[in-house]
Amino acid sequence: MGSDMADKTLFEKIADREIPADIVYEDDTCLAFRDINPQAPVHILVVPRKPIPSLDDLEMEDEILVGHLFIAAKQIAQQEGLTGGYRTVFNCGEDAVQTVPHIHLHLLGGRKLTWPPG
Ligand code: 5GP
Repeated sequence: MGSDMADKTLFEKIADREIPADIVYEDDTCLAFRDINPQAPVHILVVPRKPIPSLDDLEMEDEILVGHLFIAAKQIAQQEGLTGGYRTVFNCGEDAVQTVPHIHLHLLGGRKLTWPPG
């Protein structure tokens, strides 16, 4: 069952062009746009069109979808010229400070990233 207008997540609204965003990549399965509060020179969110709330909500049927997000991230990293490397992150739940309940893969790069993250 599709979600109605009131149920749409923030990222569904971005996908539907109801909220503006700097979209850098799009296909039938996902879209990617620049984070509004970037933590690195390149900080892009790769978001499936399917509004899965979090990593915890993934089902076996989402196996290909998750792989697709990583392939898209790799392509976007190339597009952004991240030849020195980059990081991909799924925040899941409160302890990881997930703030938007629509699963998204962070793609961060363009500077030397520290480890461990905060
Ligand atoms: P989370 O903390 O859930 O892993 O990441 C959510 C991310 O979405 C944050 O990095 C935050 O800056 C970003 N974000 C929140 N609202 C918006 C928005 O309206 N537009 C864009 N482009 N990014 C957003």
